[in-house]
Amino acid sequence: MSDPHELTVLNPATEETVATVPAASAEDVDTAVVRALRAQARWAALAGADRARLLRRFADTVDAHLEELAQLEVREAGHTVGNARWEAGNARDLLLYAAGGAERLLGAQIPAPGGFNVTFHEPLGVVGVIAPWNFPMPIAAWGSFPALAAGNAVVLKPAETTPLTALRLAGLALEAGVPEHVFQVLPGHGHTAGRALVDHPDVAKIVFTGSTSTGREVMERCARLVKPVTLELGGKSPNVVFADADLEAALDPFSFLDNSGQDCCARTRVLVQESVFEEARAFLAEALAAVVVGDPADDKTQMGPLISRQQLDRVRSYVPEDAPALRGTAPEGPGFWFPPTVLTGERPDGRAAREEIFGPVAVLLPFADEADAVRLANDTPYGLSGSVWTRDLGRALRVSRAVRAGNLSVNSHSSVRYWTPFGGFKQSGLGRELGPDALTAFTETKNVFISTEGPAQ
Ligand code: NAD
Repeated sequence: MSDPHELTVLNPATEETVATVPAASAEDVDTAVVRALRAQARWAALAGADRARLLRRFADTVDAHLEELAQLEVREAGHTVGNARWEAGNARDLLLYAAGGAERLLGAQIPAPGGFNVTFHEPLGVVGVIAPWNFPMPIAAWGSFPALAAGNAVVLKPAETTPLTALRLAGLALEAGVPEHVFQVLPGHGHTAGRALVDHPDVAKIVFTGSTSTGREVMERCARLVKPVTLELGGKSPNVVFADADLEAALDPFSFLDNSGQDCCARTRVLVQESVFEEARAFLAEALAAVVVGDPADDKTQMGPLISRQQLDRVRSYVPEDAPALRGTAPEGPGFWFPPTVLTGERPDGRAAREEIFGPVAVLLPFADEADAVRLANDTPYGLSGSVWTRDLGRALRVSRAVRAGNLSVNSHSSVRYWTPFGGFKQSGLGRELGPDALTAFTETKNVFISTEGPAQ
């Protein structure tokens, strides 16, 4: 029986215990919010340029500890070391980008009869950030750093399985001189610490990243307090490959295998035009067989384990042993390993084609023409991401506009850049993170009218 008062962090590649950390109770959340409220008043009173200076120092401190953070991510999340280095760098870069925003939180000046209006972007107060385990460091950063730059205090609850990089980031913030209690990290369970943060009347906004089912509950609870919420939820993204595309680039298996497929933007529905379908199948069979799956700490490894036994069991449930599929290989023995897999006999309305699996498993489906491709791409309750591959620019733009998703790439599989907006349509979420408007999502707009009328004559 696991102890509800502590979290055991396992290395997913070995199943060895990496650390145990105390799990925050509802009372701990309350204490943290009270401290955050006091700290926020002082933080918001700083000039934007001073907040920016402290956040840039925080970025320098992260940079000086990049390798330590990356190695921690490898141990607690099983990410390949190359990916983990990118993730730590992403946290640093977002700090620098958000710091600039603190200096440019511009309002408007709007003429009005008898005077003028000015608008201010006022910080919300204390922001609660709830993060998942699949990209522990970047997702903690995306929710927290723009909120800090806009003058809010942040209480961050990382996922049960991956609290260590978030705790280290909070320690580095203090080392850099960010005042105490402005950025607090409280590891804990979703149903205790997570709910306490969502329900707390002094938490002004929740940024939740995780599954659609939990997101729905978070939104319902926020509704009771009319609390704003940003939701970054699940995905089942299409990769639309037309016959005229560069097939090798379009069918890059890391479009669904990166991070062992535990990526909300993974292109797990590979939609290929009929005339090149067999060619695509043959290419993918070879590509999967060549993927190097193993020790994530080894620079040559391309794919590591899944996060947990629970996730392994879930992924297995979508891939019966006798399912028609292309399969790569994975290590045996301790660790939560699953081989790269493409299901080839799945119907578009089958469970594996419709539900988010969150593992290294894609489905391969044919389409006839552009209209059929758009119909299939949109045949999902999700709308987070997707790719369109064609050399026909007009078609690329038509299909990109027709697919109901928040982040599309043409002739590329990229999704997330900290300087562009990120978020989902439909049940993939609500609101946007990152990009030039990232800070304003953590402010209220205040309008002040100033009369220029002189005293009555
Ligand atoms: P999850 O919903 O189980 O948990 C996410 C977080 O919510 C964890 O910190 C958890 O402790 C907390 N939580 C759980 N129950 C809670 C409750 N009742 N109240 C408050 N907090 C609660 O999701 P997960 O399994 O950790 O993450 C995987 C999911 O996240 C996938 O569906 C994936 O697509 C999604 N995801 C989305 C994005 C995006 O940006 N759209 C990015 C990454 C992951």
